[in-house]
Amino acid sequence: MFLDYKPTWMVAKITQLTAADLRRQGIKAILTDLDNTLIAWDNPTGTTEIKTWIQQMQASGIPVVVVSNNSAARISRAVKSLKVPFIARALKPLSIGIRRAKVQLKLSNDELIMVGDQLITDMIAANNSGVRAVLVRPLIKTDAWNTRINRFLEKFLMRRLRRRHPELQWKERLDG
Ligand SMILES: [Mg+2]
Repeated sequence: MFLDYKPTWMVAKITQLTAADLRRQGIKAILTDLDNTLIAWDNPTGTTEIKTWIQQMQASGIPVVVVSNNSAARISRAVKSLKVPFIARALKPLSIGIRRAKVQLKLSNDELIMVGDQLITDMIAANNSGVRAVLVRPLIKTDAWNTRINRFLEKFLMRRLRRRHPELQWKERLDG
């Protein structure tokens, strides 16, 4: 369905994803949103925790690829210190960016996850692509990432999601 914003999993932070848990799910690469998922406006080059996590994933043979609606210029500045490849102008909630990443990685839908902090862009894009989706909490609540309308919509959809899928809870890790 075009507007399916239901995540497969809800994990508070991207750094809680471990190579072992991902492998158990057959996941071979992580596609991730940039703003408020990997970096926050008050720390635009990424925290040590994020950098360490990315290195651990890469060392485990699980590439991390940024799939962002931002321009290439903006993303390359942000990811310079993170050293990850990226897809710019991904046009989330459309599946275009995720499909491009999939072709570049030569992986199938089952071997990918899309991680992000927004239902209306990241989760819908993942579901439109047939890739499993991981919702994380926004790194910063008062970020400039969002218009007021977006924030209002996110809250509304989140409440609806909790009502319709009470089984969906914030977890410490991917648990199948
Ligand atoms: Mg975001």
